[in-house]
Amino acid sequence: MDEFKIEDNISYKNLFKPYGYINGEWIDLPKGKSFDIYNPSTNKIIAKMPEMGIDETKYAIESANIAFDKWKKKTAKERCLLLRKWYNLVLENIDDLSVIMTLENGKPLKESKAEIIYASSFIDWFSEEGKRTYGRSIPATQIDKRIITIKQPVGVSALITPWNFPAAMITRKVAPALAAGCSVIIKPAEQTPLSASALIYLAQKAGIPKGVINLLVANNPIPIGKELCENDTVRKISFTGSTEVGKILIKDSANSVKKVSMELGGNAPLIVFNDADVDIAVKETLASKYRNSGQTCVCANRIFVQDGIYKKYSEALAKKVADFKVGDGFEHTSDIGPLIDNSGLKKVERHLDDAIAKGAKVLIGGKQPSLGGLYYEPTVLTEVAKNMVLFKEETFGPLAPLFRFKDVDEVINMANNTNYGLAGYIFTKDLNTAWKVSEELQFGMVGINSGILSTEVAPFGGVKESGIGREGAVEGMDEYMEIKYLCFGNIM
Ligand code: NAP
Repeated sequence: MDEFKIEDNISYKNLFKPYGYINGEWIDLPKGKSFDIYNPSTNKIIAKMPEMGIDETKYAIESANIAFDKWKKKTAKERCLLLRKWYNLVLENIDDLSVIMTLENGKPLKESKAEIIYASSFIDWFSEEGKRTYGRSIPATQIDKRIITIKQPVGVSALITPWNFPAAMITRKVAPALAAGCSVIIKPAEQTPLSASALIYLAQKAGIPKGVINLLVANNPIPIGKELCENDTVRKISFTGSTEVGKILIKDSANSVKKVSMELGGNAPLIVFNDADVDIAVKETLASKYRNSGQTCVCANRIFVQDGIYKKYSEALAKKVADFKVGDGFEHTSDIGPLIDNSGLKKVERHLDDAIAKGAKVLIGGKQPSLGGLYYEPTVLTEVAKNMVLFKEETFGPLAPLFRFKDVDEVINMANNTNYGLAGYIFTKDLNTAWKVSEELQFGMVGINSGILSTEVAPFGGVKESGIGREGAVEGMDEYMEIKYLCFGNIM
């Protein structure tokens, strides 16, 4: 395999840090203890990163613990000012950060830029919210008592993140943690550690003190994960990734009874009722389904279309899908990049083969384009049914299966017939339908005539096996704080 060379005149080189980061220092390891990072668009190696393990994890925990003592004693305003410097630096470096993200994740450059803006919004929002972590004054039941609550940082927090949003899944955790006064240890996905190290380099430049942010990188996450979960000093685990791994982390952190936040997998229903505006439903389905090549936890996984609109909607959707251009993320014309790796590609193929064997029809796509590699054509399937694998599992690829339904009760039953409960979407002009179905859906978030719902100001998260806790908004701040109740007695 050819090795990717970083040319001297390329500006992102300054942010290109193929290292871990502990106690304010970049850490490399001896040759042989490294793993390769690939560009999924070309399958070329772009970097070698140190394979960190238990020793580095212990060192990072110790450093984070020492730093926590000083960081929590800063005023909220002092922390705010440092976070704002970081926020400004992220935006100043948006072009270089986007290049790094497209290099390691493959998503089109325009999507990488949109993600950096989204990622920075968490730093912006939580830098201010840190000043508003108010407690309460509670009227007591005895005349000589006074009751108040205060909020305090939970402590050293371990943050484990996936590859599909290499920057935003990090800032959505780090920003509230730091604003609350916690120190953190980040373990990014093995495919996308370079976006993480670039962001941390900018945090270092902003003046975030040593030990407050630490970065562990590895191809084998198991020893790091075990130590982070079992070590008593770590008081919080915040994880975004698959439900399967989330369950392991919950079990492993049970002995030390840590506070946990889990942002796990999804199996989102997108429901189009007969009275929906077809143009809006199609536009929003495209955004929900095909963004990041369908590799998002909130992307529409099962599209339910009512009988009366099925033909019109499916034809309009396929017509728009035909306009998508699949290609390298660095080509300006690309709308759909590659899948992240071979197992991602195989999963899409397995779902498609199973559906076709059970009677589904390909309306458009359904194969790899001539580019080959990790690319897959955006696909629309009709005549899909509940006995197909894609009804149960998250496809995590550009495959849109269109189920048919007759009435509201039938579609609510089908939509809720899953262990997941992250996001759901409804398209209708009827307020009554929108309200009733929103209430009945067993999902943490519902988009009504909207296929996109992520924002820093709203609580993001799921129910059932899609997770515990919320990220973003006031609720996202509370994930990094403990409530302490103070009772003053004998006040005469
Ligand atoms: P994953 O395999 O669960 O990995 C996520 C992270 O966990 C990676 O950093 C991974 O490291 C690490 N990890 C894996 N096994 C571990 C272990 N035993 N101990 C400690 N860490 C471990 O998920 P993924 O494939 O990267 O991401 C896709 C999943 O994330 C999908 O299910 C998607 O729905 C979900 N997701 C959810 C949200 C949300 O907000 N709810 C957002 C985005 C994605 P390695 O990379 O080294 O394996």
